[in-house]
Amino acid sequence: MSINLSIVQKYDLEAYTLEQAQQEDVQQLLDVCAQNIGAVNEDQITKAFKLCYLSHNGVTRASGEPYYYHPVEVAKIVAQEINIDDISVIAALLHDTVEDTDIGLDQIRQWFGNEVAIIIDGVTKITGVFKTRDSKQAETFMKLLLSMAEDIRVILIKFADRLHNMRTIQHLRREKQIQIASETMDLYAPLAHRFGLFTIKNELEDLCFKTIDPTSFKFVARKLREKKESREAYIDELMMPVGRQLAEQNLSFEIKGRPKHIYSIYRKMQRQQKPFEEIYDLFAIRIILEEPHTKEDCWRVYSIITDWYTPIPERFRDFISVPKANGYQSLHTTVITNRGKKIEVQIRTRKMDNIAERGLAAHWKYKEGEQSGSDTLDRFVSWVREVLDNPRPDSSTDFVKDFQLNLYQEEIYVFTPKGELRTLPFNATPIDFAFEIHSEVGERAMAAKVNDKMVPLRHKLRNGDQVEIITGSKINLNPDWMDDVVTHKAKSRIRQFIKQKQRKVADIGREIWEKRCAKAKLDITDQELTRVARKFKYESTQGLFFDLGSGSIELATVFKEAKKFKSTGKIDTEEDQIQDAQNISTEQVHQKYFDAARSYGQGNALILNGDISHVKYTYANCCSPIPGDEVLGFISRNGDVKIHRSMCNNAQHLLKNEGDRIIDVKWAKSIDSKFLGAIRVIGEDRVGMINDITDVLSKSLSTNMKSINVSSDEGMFEGIITLYVDGIAHLDKIMKRLERLQGVKNVLRYE
Ligand code: MN
Repeated sequence: MSINLSIVQKYDLEAYTLEQAQQEDVQQLLDVCAQNIGAVNEDQITKAFKLCYLSHNGVTRASGEPYYYHPVEVAKIVAQEINIDDISVIAALLHDTVEDTDIGLDQIRQWFGNEVAIIIDGVTKITGVFKTRDSKQAETFMKLLLSMAEDIRVILIKFADRLHNMRTIQHLRREKQIQIASETMDLYAPLAHRFGLFTIKNELEDLCFKTIDPTSFKFVARKLREKKESREAYIDELMMPVGRQLAEQNLSFEIKGRPKHIYSIYRKMQRQQKPFEEIYDLFAIRIILEEPHTKEDCWRVYSIITDWYTPIPERFRDFISVPKANGYQSLHTTVITNRGKKIEVQIRTRKMDNIAERGLAAHWKYKEGEQSGSDTLDRFVSWVREVLDNPRPDSSTDFVKDFQLNLYQEEIYVFTPKGELRTLPFNATPIDFAFEIHSEVGERAMAAKVNDKMVPLRHKLRNGDQVEIITGSKINLNPDWMDDVVTHKAKSRIRQFIKQKQRKVADIGREIWEKRCAKAKLDITDQELTRVARKFKYESTQGLFFDLGSGSIELATVFKEAKKFKSTGKIDTEEDQIQDAQNISTEQVHQKYFDAARSYGQGNALILNGDISHVKYTYANCCSPIPGDEVLGFISRNGDVKIHRSMCNNAQHLLKNEGDRIIDVKWAKSIDSKFLGAIRVIGEDRVGMINDITDVLSKSLSTNMKSINVSSDEGMFEGIITLYVDGIAHLDKIMKRLERLQGVKNVLRYE
């Protein structure tokens, strides 16, 4: 270990006295620690604070605030929302020092011990990986997980770091904001979900949503405020008799019933194409029993509720006896109220609620005293290891895809023949189960028995099934299984198998090819053959060899083309032109548009429908943006710009894979052309409905309609109308007007 003496003298931490303002900062942090963690080493935290303050001294953030605010806020998040221990608070305070200041890791180790040094080293490494822009995100993600496996606190601090950066994102440039928000949405939020850090995940998602699509965010937020009182009054009325009885039985409790997570409401509205009101009504009421109430008391509450309201038996869930893999525990029941409405009620203790909101880390507090806590954590860590230990898939994007799938699926619980419990994602089949038991069982699976009956391997498993796999002596893995599995483990093993098989076929193809060339004495290099392969739309010779091997392409056809190329040296295909266009670098294009935009005095944004004639852009068909929508520009491979709505699925996909190709775009202040918008009208199927709709459009709003598509079913009417509008304000006006028509239930923007 080398200790830099000048550093030790420069930062004489013991002797240094903090100013009044910083003294208050440190006291505030210590208070947060005392409230959330309990006993902490206050001297060490104060020492870390001093080093944090001194080492970042003179540096400011994009907001103009002194830099040290950031690590202090991160430390507060760690203490308050993740509340693990003082080591992680100290590491959070110092998480940027090694990276950004003259302090080395050895110094940290000497002052704060090995544990803190290891965590900071982990955080620095992750940050470094994120900064290398050209590394594919999936790869980054892998490394991130790897370092987490060393000490899980590394990743918890990274969550806190990202959360604070998202909270203060408004100070960055718009493109940067969107890029960070989209990365957070894709990687951090799902991972936080897996950790069970639900509060953090929800806040991250809301902040991302607010950044990417501020208009929709504000819309839902406003609706929530408007509905708050009537919702609370309704819950009060509903819970009054129940509450009285709970009090009689000496149960102390809290009732929560107001949803706060804006993004999940918006997502449900989009997914189910339903208006805010319908989604909002579905949100659950939660009854939380205060300490020292136990799970038995949860059952008492359940019994009281069902005395007053009729439960729907199929909707009952007992996550107390069988917790979810992430540690979530609660009773769920759906009851019918005396107004005939269905409402979900969740019953849990305060501790269960803490775990539900703060996740597994909340268990850490009890890790000494309680067995179950560390058990759950161990299960989680072993899950992560399992993902990492799997044979590495060839394509890292596939990895992220599988991973995200697993995160968002709901779980089912099945039993092995010995009665052991296994958690699988929803829609899992016996094949998934087999790979879950062991990769060899998966590879040799021949048939399956579910609850003692023979079923096909592709049979969908259900909660509570007992599953037995019948294996053969040889490998029986079938590439077609790919469509029948949902777990990461099964997918990656099958993919690997397919790759191996493909390689064999391609080897045969190469042999055939080389024999043919040798016979005709045609001498063609691999590079030359690649160009021939492109002519036939193959990305590489490997694909060509595979198809030759499997007989999907004729040897004679390829050979003829190769011979022609050899003698003329020319293949004129579209492929070549595209190849040239790809040579326009992203920087060049950025520069071109920034210059253009700047010359019109609009900062760095490309102005849509203004009069910048030399900038070529088109509107994406997938989401048909109209003026007023939140939009993004993507520089396409040939240098054009495609305009998407920020929340469009395709745009989200592009953001994820080619975030460096975004450019900021804005609508011009005045636009005189018309845009195509679509709306969906739902209502009663009454005489004259279509007439009334077209009347509103043509007579009172003088709007031109392009098409109207009508269907009716069981007395309900549904119309999809495309029309020419000036922009979002115009579309809103139309929607409001249509909503007022007799019998119309609901008008929505249609995508
Ligand atoms: Mn940081």
